[in-house]
Amino acid sequence: MSRSEELFAQAQHSIPGGVNSPVRAFNGVGGTPLFIERANGAYMYDADDQRYIDYVGSWGPMILGHNHPAIRAATLAAVERGTSFGTPTSIEITMAEKIKSIVPSIEKVRMVNSGTEATMTAIRLARGYTKRDKILKFEGCYHGHADSLLVKAGSGALTLGVPSSPGIPADVAAHTLTVTFNDLESVKEIFAEVGDQIACIIVEPVAGNMNCIPPVPGFLEGLRSICDSYGSVLIFDEVMSGFRVAPGGAQERYNVLPDLTTLGKVIGGGMPVGAFGGKREIMDYIAPVGPVYQAGTLSGNPVAMAAGLAALSQLSTPGLYENLYARVDQLLNGLQERADAAGIPLTTNRAGSMFGVFFTTDKNITSFEQATKCNMEHFKAFYHHMLKAGVYLAPSAFEAGFMSAAHTEADIQQTLDAAEKAFAALK
Ligand code: PMP
Repeated sequence: MSRSEELFAQAQHSIPGGVNSPVRAFNGVGGTPLFIERANGAYMYDADDQRYIDYVGSWGPMILGHNHPAIRAATLAAVERGTSFGTPTSIEITMAEKIKSIVPSIEKVRMVNSGTEATMTAIRLARGYTKRDKILKFEGCYHGHADSLLVKAGSGALTLGVPSSPGIPADVAAHTLTVTFNDLESVKEIFAEVGDQIACIIVEPVAGNMNCIPPVPGFLEGLRSICDSYGSVLIFDEVMSGFRVAPGGAQERYNVLPDLTTLGKVIGGGMPVGAFGGKREIMDYIAPVGPVYQAGTLSGNPVAMAAGLAALSQLSTPGLYENLYARVDQLLNGLQERADAAGIPLTTNRAGSMFGVFFTTDKNITSFEQATKCNMEHFKAFYHHMLKAGVYLAPSAFEAGFMSAAHTEADIQQTLDAAEKAFAALK
């Protein structure tokens, strides 16, 4: 029995399912999750001291690789000064100014403690600002687990086959309209019916919770113009795509500006941080200047701000993004070549440092429906071959992969060597 198996068995007695977040339980692939003891750069080490090349990066935050020296130093220095004050601090101003300088559409920003808090509040703000109740989201997009957003959601909700969870009152879910990602017609149709009641569209501008699906040309532009026509707020949930698909996120990469943006993951450098920001006029609708209430005991926490700011500051290192994109190309082109050679149907998607691998004969994956029709048996078998060979991928076919700046050409080569053997074994 491995140490992870022992720990997983023990954990089940006192933690539901043995985990503090569902997808970690390996429901999507079967088997026992790894219990990780430490991580450095591109590598994580489990409780048996096995090394893994990590393409999950704590589900996105670790864009610089694990345990980056600048983040570690800034975090430890902040701890020396005290862990929480519950008062304004100067580092919160520095953080807000930093975010404004990187994310094109943000004029004002508020810090929270998770992506869920960010999206939950952005929705409330959009509703309060427009004085409308309905919201529009896309099937397969995940925006955290707030009641109104856990309807036809992606990520763990999809992996577990729970499209919308018990515990959400029907009359709350009734205000959430869902349409098809990358299908502007479905958005136009619903707006033609009830557009004057829709407070906002919330979208992952690069979908990362139904595997990785970038927007088709014209999709984001279309959402922008529909929101303009109907006076609805456009929210880009960039919790995953922020700082990842371009320094300024999807809004920079595709040159479409939302009214509000939600951020998380990279922004905290591995600490629990989220943020929402956007147009001054809308942001000033939030308490204490505006009537829409939102608060947080630990929001803007000085240790979390120090870690996040150190991460964001490192992102301006010359060549960092070019290197990330080159590594993604090396990985995906290499996987495609090897799958083709082995006769395994495979298609890949990429957007900056996010990527997706689909076991399917479809050559162009743009929809949720295509993502759900992939060969799950191939995915699961491939997953476990890779894990055995020391490569850690997201334990679900409905999650994006993440490259970090710490991954080297040699790491990718080692991953490709493992994949070649895995594809051969799938035949
Ligand atoms: N939005 C998106 C796009 C996400 O990917 C996630 C988390 N995977 C969230 C929101 C929720 O963030 P958190 O888990 O920090 O609450």
